[in-house]
Amino acid sequence: MSNTKLSFADILLPVPIPRLFTYEVTAEHIDKAEPGRRVIVPFGQKKVLTGVIVQIHGTKPQNYDAREILDILDDQPAIVDQQLQLIQWMASYYMCTPGEVLNAALPSGLKLSSKSMVQKHPDFDPDDGAHTYSDSEWKVVEALEEKEHLSYDEISQITGVKNIYHLIKSLSAKGAILIFEQLIEKYKPKKERRVRLQASLENDLLALEALFQKLEKKEKQLELVMKYLREVPVNELKDRNQLGVSKGEFLASGLSTSSLGTLVKNGVFEEFDKVISRFGEPKKKEAVIPELTSLQEEKLSEIHGLFEKKSTVLLHGVTGSGKTEIYIRLLQQVLDEGAQALYLLPEIALTAQILRRLKKVFGDKIGIYHSKYSDNERVEVWNGVLSGRFPIVVGVRSSVFLPFNNLSLIIIDEEHESSYKQYDPAPRYHARDTAIMLGQIHHAKILLGSATPSVESYYNAVYEKYGLVTLETRFGEVQMPETALIDLKDERKKKRMHGDLSPGLLQAIEQTLEENKQVILFQNRRGYAPYLHCEDCAHIPKCANCSVSLTYHMYRQELLCHYCGFREPLPSHCEACGSAKIKTIGFGTEKLEDDLKVLLPTGRISRMDYDTTRTRSTYEQLIENFENGEIDVLVGTQMITKGLDFDHVELVGILDIDRIIHFPDFRSHERAFQMMTQVSGRAGRRSNNGKVIIQTNNPEQPVFHLVRTNDYKRFYQMEILERESFHYPPFVRMIKVLFRNQDKQLVWETANHYLKSIQTSLGGHRILGPQEPLIARIRNQYHQEITIKLEKGGISIPKAKEFLTQKMEELQQDKIFRQTSVIFDVDPQ
Ligand code: ADP
Ligand code: ZN
Ligand code: ZN
Repeated sequence: MSNTKLSFADILLPVPIPRLFTYEVTAEHIDKAEPGRRVIVPFGQKKVLTGVIVQIHGTKPQNYDAREILDILDDQPAIVDQQLQLIQWMASYYMCTPGEVLNAALPSGLKLSSKSMVQKHPDFDPDDGAHTYSDSEWKVVEALEEKEHLSYDEISQITGVKNIYHLIKSLSAKGAILIFEQLIEKYKPKKERRVRLQASLENDLLALEALFQKLEKKEKQLELVMKYLREVPVNELKDRNQLGVSKGEFLASGLSTSSLGTLVKNGVFEEFDKVISRFGEPKKKEAVIPELTSLQEEKLSEIHGLFEKKSTVLLHGVTGSGKTEIYIRLLQQVLDEGAQALYLLPEIALTAQILRRLKKVFGDKIGIYHSKYSDNERVEVWNGVLSGRFPIVVGVRSSVFLPFNNLSLIIIDEEHESSYKQYDPAPRYHARDTAIMLGQIHHAKILLGSATPSVESYYNAVYEKYGLVTLETRFGEVQMPETALIDLKDERKKKRMHGDLSPGLLQAIEQTLEENKQVILFQNRRGYAPYLHCEDCAHIPKCANCSVSLTYHMYRQELLCHYCGFREPLPSHCEACGSAKIKTIGFGTEKLEDDLKVLLPTGRISRMDYDTTRTRSTYEQLIENFENGEIDVLVGTQMITKGLDFDHVELVGILDIDRIIHFPDFRSHERAFQMMTQVSGRAGRRSNNGKVIIQTNNPEQPVFHLVRTNDYKRFYQMEILERESFHYPPFVRMIKVLFRNQDKQLVWETANHYLKSIQTSLGGHRILGPQEPLIARIRNQYHQEITIKLEKGGISIPKAKEFLTQKMEELQQDKIFRQTSVIFDVDPQ
């Protein structure tokens, strides 16, 4: 191998194949070849893909002919070294391929794709009389005289035909067109039309004077030139690449568009496009940071002290204690040092309010990254992190993928939230755990914050893997809300319930509204009723594709499957026996909202759930209306439990927590404790009159007492004992292997074969299943799952994962078993 010929590159491609691909770098590209830059390469028969260079070397692949790189897209790395490290770690920890991680990491605006285009066939002669053409076909032929190639979309527009495949096929058969694949760069920069003086006039006083004389009688044109000279600073006029002024703003004060046109034609002005940021240009702004209280100040220095010794600190602070204020201080320090910080939030629902607070301090130094942003916006945040435009990023889980190169702080807010875990597709990663690894790669400090830390994180703090800082009082000495329980069994016996509302809760709502305060009601089930029930034959309508009952949505008069989206109109008669006696059973947010409108005719009731917050703006509007006091009672699912900060909420009602407590999962008590504490935390944040009412069928459950006394430590002590005796995290690592197929028997057999292949080496006591999960069929696919528990210290977990992957690959050598799709879910939630 000679070192002058480094002409091969190992490329990471966004495909689920567990290896890198070696391509040849031809002489024309060799200067630009560098790890981290994106390349375009041929893949398979026809495809081209965007990949990332991982390594350049001189070793020709042994067993295949390396194909050539088609192009190198970047002038500098778009992926930094730390990202490549993180991708490798995620692939091995979460048992997927680096390509799957890359695919999730790159915003689709940075991935080129091939798209079909149409051009005229070079031998085509429309007048040869060999074929006849329809009107639509003629339109395409004519358009191709004007324009060299057309996309399918353009053809559809030109012809007005929606489904154009038939048309294209026919034209192609007649030899009129050729179809080809063209690469398109998906990201489109935003451009602004600007105006500037022609280069010949710049800095040339004589020429300008001559111009003034010429325009003496042309008032409108003269006005434009004068305005330009007034607005553009003299020193900029001397610049050969003057930025000029925005055309829109220039003409905004009512100046003549046509005069500008004339001046451009006569070579006085020129128009040009400038790429601008979708987030506006950075402005200088003085930060306004509120003073910390002396207690908060003390906790901040405790955090600093712990960071000297530990990379990770857990801030356990009750709701409303001012954790966010402490985060702001830490972020400010990062800015002062000129480094980068990442502020992770579990979901978009939380970003609006927190962002408003952060923006007041950091202005537009903050980049925001989440899925409701457009692709182009995501690319700009990505590039803004690379360029230093956004030293602070606030985002949801996917922001761990951004190209940080100088990260010094990661804040993980509401670290206990299960929405940090991505379930589908791969990588099935936990953003908190991934961020901790990201922090280690950067030698950054990591702060986890929560009022109800996850059992895992608290365990790490107790065993001093993490530092622990506790903040036990609310800001302004505001008291924690008072919590009361209402026994539903009792109320039902006495037939005193109004639908799902007990008289006690209803009264409290009425009283709160009389005092002009607000109410939040937590009902963790959307729709109107969880199911319908025939009173004559007991039939319950089920989803055609899943083994679940259909939820009744009244507003749309539909039955809807929450697992696959299947829907059907509300039946008027039972489909089994024809009876008309169909009754709704149970309560969802929609019914609760409906009942309340009847019970509280003057109250203004709104609902916040998945159905009412499809877009960013509807969500933000609801929050704003509630903040402004335009809503009295807000009914919602778990969306309303999280981190929101309202001034006038005094009452929180919790309606169906029993279902969460009794959900068959080892985390159900933790979930219930967290949800109740979090939603209670929305009550009385500014006053000492906060009140929480919990309705339950089992008031004797210990978890209620723990919530009422706000006793996290006691909760943790009880929970950790359970986890230890029943072998659950943090004492073991869990891996779920999920098998899916349309054929019930085949899924079962595949899972059992897999079990046999791992049982002996892994030890039967570490394996549970195969068994059907709670919902055994979804979207017509039957499910089986195997759960593997790997105790810490007893077995090498990375080796066990390799073994599990290898055995799966062996199993899938078999054509029959390969038909079953398999998912590894590491640290399932
Ligand atoms: P947490 O994040 O712990 O729930 P927040 O940071 O949201 O608490 O604080 C609760 C409320 O108290 C917020 O409205 C916040 O503005 C206010 N607050 C907290 N600390 C201060 C402070 N030092 N100065 C002014 N307001 C504060
Ligand atoms: Zn029936
Ligand atoms: Zn379904």
